[in-house]
Amino acid sequence: MKILVFGSTGQVATELRALAPVIALGRAEADLSRPESCGVAIRDSAPDLVINAAAYTAVDRAEEEEALATVINGEAPGAMARACAELGIPFCHVSTDYVFDGSGTTARAPSDPVAPCNAYGRSKLAGEVAVRAAGGQSAILRTSWVFSAHGNNFVKTMLRLSDTRDALTVVEDQIGGPTPAADIASALLTMGRAMVQGHAGGLYHFSGAPDVSWAEFAREIFARAGRATTVAGIPTTAYPTPAARPKNSRLDCDTLKSEFGIERADWRAGVSRVLKELEQT
Ligand code: NDP
Repeated sequence: MKILVFGSTGQVATELRALAPVIALGRAEADLSRPESCGVAIRDSAPDLVINAAAYTAVDRAEEEEALATVINGEAPGAMARACAELGIPFCHVSTDYVFDGSGTTARAPSDPVAPCNAYGRSKLAGEVAVRAAGGQSAILRTSWVFSAHGNNFVKTMLRLSDTRDALTVVEDQIGGPTPAADIASALLTMGRAMVQGHAGGLYHFSGAPDVSWAEFAREIFARAGRATTVAGIPTTAYPTPAARPKNSRLDCDTLKSEFGIERADWRAGVSRVLKELEQT
């Protein structure tokens, strides 16, 4: 099966390349800030399946660059989905828990109302809307708190900080499911292959289990890495950022399990795998 992936160097794209013989398009081959080039790349390649793992992911910078973020996260996925619809091939796209407002304490289902609280979330929601408007066979997978041995993520930031500090303060009133990029890549391939076999696609949630705070996530990283760094929990108000963050990022992942047999995996095992990978590099 010929699988075309947008993104090459990102966390999820790197794991897709590791798991399957995909054709991965980096920025030089397809620049998402020029959405029409994405449709051209799909038509030129004539694949059996397209997965978009590229995105504008700089959450705080997006507050200053919302127009650019909206082109990359909104218009480009729309152009990809339209090209796939014209060719009659399935399209898998990755979205985020940031499309929700973060209120309450229950896990959000895919059909729950959306209301992003920052520019990045609005740009990703624009992508969801554009993909669905294309009318083809598409799947949108919302995920959260992605980590891997590659790129920038919370696990690598915590390890770097603990190199020089014995004690850290970390936000403890934002709750969500940390998710290994490798698990997302595996889920996307399972979904995509099922869609090539005729599954209609839809809107799904996927995150690692159990749901925790960033402070608990940090403590688990240090415990598994054998680091003595201590973590004191602080409220979001004590760690102001340019972009607001949702406090409740819990995702209800039941339909992914019932339709594709994909279960939430324990992210703590994913942390151990990433630590091992980092040791070897
Ligand atoms: P990364 O930030 O690791 O990678 C983003 C990728 O997109 C990079 O390969 C980057 O290329 C590429 N990219 C950015 N701008 C362009 C552009 N203009 N043209 C072409 N390529 C571009 O992302 P992740 O792997 O972490 O994220 C994958 C998906 O998951 C995204 O849809 C993201 O929105 C979503 N997500 C991520 C979360 C997270 O915590 N990271 C949480 C929830 C959802 P380059 O290296 O050249 O910049």
